[in-house]
Amino acid sequence: MKTEILKPTRENIKRAGNLIRAGDLVAFPTETVYGLGADGLNADACKKIFAAKGRPSDNPLILHFATLSQVERAAKILPAAEKLFAAFCPGPLTIILPKTKFVPDAVTGGLSTVGVRFPDNDVARALIKAADCPIAAPSANTSGRPSPTTSQAVFADMEGKIKIILDGGACQFGVESTIVDVTSDVAEILRPGAVTKEMLEEILGDVKVAPSTSSKPRAPGMKYTHYAPKVPMTLIETTSLDVLEKIFRREIKKLRAENKSVGVIASHELISKLDAEKIIAVPYGSCGDLKVIAANIYESLRSFDNLTADIILAEGVADIGLGVAIMNRFRKAATQILLVDDF
Ligand code: AMP
Ligand code: MG
Repeated sequence: MKTEILKPTRENIKRAGNLIRAGDLVAFPTETVYGLGADGLNADACKKIFAAKGRPSDNPLILHFATLSQVERAAKILPAAEKLFAAFCPGPLTIILPKTKFVPDAVTGGLSTVGVRFPDNDVARALIKAADCPIAAPSANTSGRPSPTTSQAVFADMEGKIKIILDGGACQFGVESTIVDVTSDVAEILRPGAVTKEMLEEILGDVKVAPSTSSKPRAPGMKYTHYAPKVPMTLIETTSLDVLEKIFRREIKKLRAENKSVGVIASHELISKLDAEKIIAVPYGSCGDLKVIAANIYESLRSFDNLTADIILAEGVADIGLGVAIMNRFRKAATQILLVDDF
């Protein structure tokens, strides 16, 4: 199958919408990451998503909507969801609600709930309208790989597997939506994203956070490998910026002594302090500029598909605000985490 990257003209969006209606797959941009979409009420079409990604069938898909009236057929709209729709939709938030009988098990992995999201991206919204159905879409990467935030990254994983990638340029946020489950008395965050716990608490009152590793994960996706770059990655976490440079120097020296080629994903500030000749440097933005870092995280990880590093050392960020979402992705992508408080 030939895979085309197409500009999102009216004609191309119409063609993509027709493909979705016909039970085919289309990759499209959202404000978070690129999605791999199918008709969310067509079980056979949704099964193609799992095949193209190599995704375990018990890891459910999120349904994407353009209008509130579309949601009623798919989900029971609980009062908490009405408040969240008003406050954050369209936007990078997925709300878990009880599903209706129209949503096939292929979408929910057999769960009685469904994830509902309104993407805040003109191309995504136009595609959903053209297809005239909710679009089931996970991130458009091969299962386990970093999510794609450009059409080229989608192409790298999906070439030959899908007909069309709609190109909307680089994604605005760069990390997937916050997932919040409102089916119990106290809402619970299953995956952190750009809509933070503090933002949700302003609307809902108390909000819990599900532990990201547990024997019984609440979001089935929590138990699988995620976002992994092609080479092993050590994430370095410290609360002291003073020790950061020293730790990187020590680790680089150790690895170089083993004849290893060392990649570094870090802030401009840290990279400028390290000896450029000894590392393959991939800056992710300025220290503390969490919006930029979030937007760059997956491209930083994917850049090592084509670089000759044996190992990556990555600089963590503070676990606050959008930093919670960034660290959630970094920790899952890492093969090893180095927690250093003194040096
Ligand atoms: P992806 O779109 O690939 O980023 O993955 C979607 C995430 O949403 C996965 O972690 C799923 O496990 C989670 N998810 C989707 N639907 C549900 C649901 N009904 N209940 C809990 N988690 C869900
Ligand atoms: Mg994903």
